[in-house]
Parts: sequence; C-alpha cells; structure tokens
Amino acid sequence: MNRGKTFIISGPSGVGKGSVLRVLLEKRKHIYVSVSATTRPQRPGEEDGVHYHFLDVETFRQRIARDEFLEYAEYVGNFYGTPKEFVDTAMEAGRDVILEIDVQGALQVAAKRPEAILIFIAPPSWEELERRLTLRGTDSPEKIQKRLLRAKVECQTADAYHYFVINDTLENAAAELDAIMTAEHCKSRERMEIINGN
Ligand code: 5GP
Repeated sequence: MNRGKTFIISGPSGVGKGSVLRVLLEKRKHIYVSVSATTRPQRPGEEDGVHYHFLDVETFRQRIARDEFLEYAEYVGNFYGTPKEFVDTAMEAGRDVILEIDVQGALQVAAKRPEAILIFIAPPSWEELERRLTLRGTDSPEKIQKRLLRAKVECQTADAYHYFVINDTLENAAAELDAIMTAEHCKSRERMEIINGN
C-alpha cells in the first residue's frame, strides 16, 4: 500500500481554513486532519482533543523536550505544535494527512519532509479578512490588528508554497483543494510505481 501524502495548509487566521476543510472532508472522508496542541485559551464551542489539545505552557515545553512535535511555533503569544505520532501512524496506514499550521511551522516541516505539499489559502482582500475576524468576535481589537499584521507578513512568504488558493467562496476554495490533492496523486512517478507493482 502507498503511504499517504502530507498536505500543509497555511493562511491568515480568520481566512476560513477550518470551514474550507470541513467542506473538503465531506468529499474526502478518509483524510486525517492533524489535531494540534496549543497553549492558547480555549474558545467557546471548541472541544479539547477535537479542535486542539489544550495544554499549559509547562506541559507544552515538556513535550518539546521529549521531541514529540513534528514542528512547533509561537504565534501571537501562544505556542502551537503538531504531534508527530498521529501523523506518522495515519500516513503509514495510507491516509493523506492535512496539517493546518502557520508559515513558520510549514517551513520546518518542508525542511524535514521535502515531499510535503504546501498550500496557502488567502482572503479575497484585507478588508474582507478584517471583517471576518471582527465577526468571529473572539479577539480584542488589538489582537485583531496583531493578527492582520501577521497575516500580511505571512502572505509575503507565500511564494515558498506550491499552491495558492483564494477563499472567495467556501465551495470554490474546497474544490480547488480537492483538485490539488487529485493532481498530486496523478504524479507520474507514483502512478508508474503503482503499475510496476512497487
Ligand atoms: P488560531 O489561534 O486562530 O486557532 O490559530 C492561529 C494560527 O496558528 C493559525 O495560523 C493556525 O494555522 C496556526 N496553527 C494551528 N495549529 C498549529 C500547529 O500545530 N503548528 C503551527 N506552527 N501553527 C499552528
């Protein structure tokens, strides 16, 4: 059986990565979406172990010391990291894995695993991103400005990504992601290995 592929999805907070993924998952039910660990406070409606593993800073640092993260980064004052074990288990079982992580984390994974496919999701405009962050109502105005500033910096590094998806509507963005995943599985080397029985 072929190993699954790693798809990394980054994009400014508030751009709607989670919503796009939900639409994609209706079609690709077999995908494993990695659940990150974070030290940021839980938002209303978020479940521990489902949206994130919510950890205190001390526990997060212990896990860094035990080398349990594939990557980790600090983002607007909190730690976020990808637990290695689940990702590897899913890939060995032939499942595609999606990591929804920031640019710093994406570049760490790309350095360790050059076969990973990097996809950047951008908002249709900065005004629209600010509107979405404000509507979400989970961050103070100062935190929203920090997230917007961070988003502009992140977009400048998007040329390190293989693909760029604009989230104008959820359906369009999910369809583009779906197409990218299909195309990656049609790469000639992988297909030739399949017909040659390797
Ligand atoms: P939020 O606080 O809005 O849930 O996430 C803030 C940012 O952290 C988002 O850009 C999200 O992609 C990123 N993020 C979430 N999990 C991880 C992770 O495990 N590693 C890294 N490097 N970034 C993450």
